[in-house]
Amino acid sequence: MKHNLLFPAGDPMGAAIFDYHKNGAPAGKLVVHSSMFEDDEIPVDGLFRSFAQMPVLEQTALRMAEGRILDVGAGSGCHSLALKEMGKETMAIDISPLAVNVMDDKGIDAYQINLFDEKFREKFDTVLMLMNGSGIIGRLENMPAFFKKMKQILEPGGCVLMDSSDLRYLYEDEDGSFEIDLADEYYGLLDYQMEYVPFNKKASVLGKPFDWLYVDFETLSYYAEQNGFKAELVAEGEHYDYLAKLTVQM
Ligand code: SAH
Repeated sequence: MKHNLLFPAGDPMGAAIFDYHKNGAPAGKLVVHSSMFEDDEIPVDGLFRSFAQMPVLEQTALRMAEGRILDVGAGSGCHSLALKEMGKETMAIDISPLAVNVMDDKGIDAYQINLFDEKFREKFDTVLMLMNGSGIIGRLENMPAFFKKMKQILEPGGCVLMDSSDLRYLYEDEDGSFEIDLADEYYGLLDYQMEYVPFNKKASVLGKPFDWLYVDFETLSYYAEQNGFKAELVAEGEHYDYLAKLTVQM
């Protein structure tokens, strides 16, 4: 097994995906640092989940997706691959060069594109944003830019399918009440920094810190309405998670 790969700096997610794709398990550790909690780990094999291994909310989104589909922040391409197997037309984008390299290798139509790139103006019937898809929006202040982008890339009658979670449970007291200070930053805003520590522990890859947004459905609906969209609650998961459908308001 080769573990002496040299990964480019700043792309820990891609390094984890690339390492697992090339060398298989056991991949290294993909660690999430945040000022809000202790270090957490994302199991790398989970990024390669099959349709059967996906949470029901993701399966629901894949079943609903139709027409020309865009998989945003596609990672290893697990959703694109499942859609391809379902015979659906899918394009995947990710900012990680190594993730795109892996998707390419798997025969997925994948491009290294930032969703918010002004030059990215293709049209889609379904835009998929999964595994806390709202994360890519970063902060609530970016909601207008996000909805503007969606308006640009959605075909008439198209929709965005996005999953997220209401992080209020992190602030739940023993008596079941919620201690959220409204003067603070929105409670779903997290600061993340990822690090990939390869199996041989040599040359860990550290990314830049970034904002990652979890948004509760009510707040999402509010911003949708403010920006000419309608938000529908498609389904709820078992733990404050949900799948939303966003469409341009008629
Ligand atoms: N959807 C995949 C991966 C989720 S992780 C899955 O469910 O397994 C989030 C992914 O989004 C990462 O691969 C990251 O590189 C990508 N990403 C983050 N910001 C992005 C942006 N602005 N445009 C496109 N991709 C982005």
